[in-house]
Amino acid sequence: MTQCVGIIGHPVGHSLSPVFQGAAFTHLGLDVSYEEWDTPGEELPHRVAALREPGVLGANVTIPHKEAVIPLLDELSQGARQSGAVNTIVHRDGRLGGHNTDGPGFVAALRKEARFEPRARRLLLLGAGGAARGIAFALAEEDVERLHIWNRTPARAASLAGDLAADGCPARALEARAASLSLEGYDCVVNCTSVGLNATELDEPPWNVQTASPGTLIADIVYTPAETPLLRSARALGLPVLPGLPMLVYQGALGFELWTGREAPVDVMFRAAREELARREAARPSGGAGR
Ligand code: NAP
Repeated sequence: MTQCVGIIGHPVGHSLSPVFQGAAFTHLGLDVSYEEWDTPGEELPHRVAALREPGVLGANVTIPHKEAVIPLLDELSQGARQSGAVNTIVHRDGRLGGHNTDGPGFVAALRKEARFEPRARRLLLLGAGGAARGIAFALAEEDVERLHIWNRTPARAASLAGDLAADGCPARALEARAASLSLEGYDCVVNCTSVGLNATELDEPPWNVQTASPGTLIADIVYTPAETPLLRSARALGLPVLPGLPMLVYQGALGFELWTGREAPVDVMFRAAREELARREAARPSGGAGR
């Protein structure tokens, strides 16, 4: 019997997951199809209940349902509970478990792609939304020296820093306008906001990248375009950069391993994702970015 996995979100047509997950199933000769399950909010309970059917391995969850699925599941991993968001559901014998592989996927990208070891390092997160929460709690597990959080809406940064500090993480919220925020004194700065998404050549990052210390790794979790304005500015200053695609692929690889119990063919997933991104960027009338 063909098994299936799918992505639950609204919309889902932009997602790269069907492309690189499908490539991974094909590569390993697994009879699993990866489907697009576009799900408006009112249909979410019905869609999640259908995951309990035999032959369904689970699902990915994306915007806007990462928080809303939680009450519909039977159990949560520690990362999902701490971050308050689920991006991966695993089905076993009629029971549904919620996981958050976004944060661990980012940490894997840091280590494997940027060769950056977060232990005892000083990090600044820009943003305090769902992705930032997952990343922050994954970094908290890595014994970082300092985790500062800035957000456009300061109360959200304060709330996240408070939750992290209650867990023993050396976290603190920063208050400043984006343009006057100093990026000095960090080993790594991570853009976890949606700033830069679908950016054009003319868009400038709202933060002053020139304030970053020499050698600071500038990471951006936005992956369309492949090189965001923030990364372009950082690269022009000679700073090392980490784009968003590796996080996407590694969070997917962790989900693949939870569903199948098999080691994910990460190289195959990267190749499929990069080819699809390049195809989409070339297909845009401007030759620019697209989701
Ligand atoms: P979210 O929960 O909606 O949070 C959005 C964040 O962006 C908030 O911190 C928000 O600040 C901030 N923001 C939005 N517009 C801004 C602006 N003009 N200036 C400054 N800050 C702004 O979204 P999310 O799920 O965290 O996702 C954030 C981004 O990460 C999206 O672009 C998404 O595609 C990307 N992402 C990538 C991966 C990956 O695997 N690479 C995984 C997940 C998400 P306020 O609180 O002030 O509104």
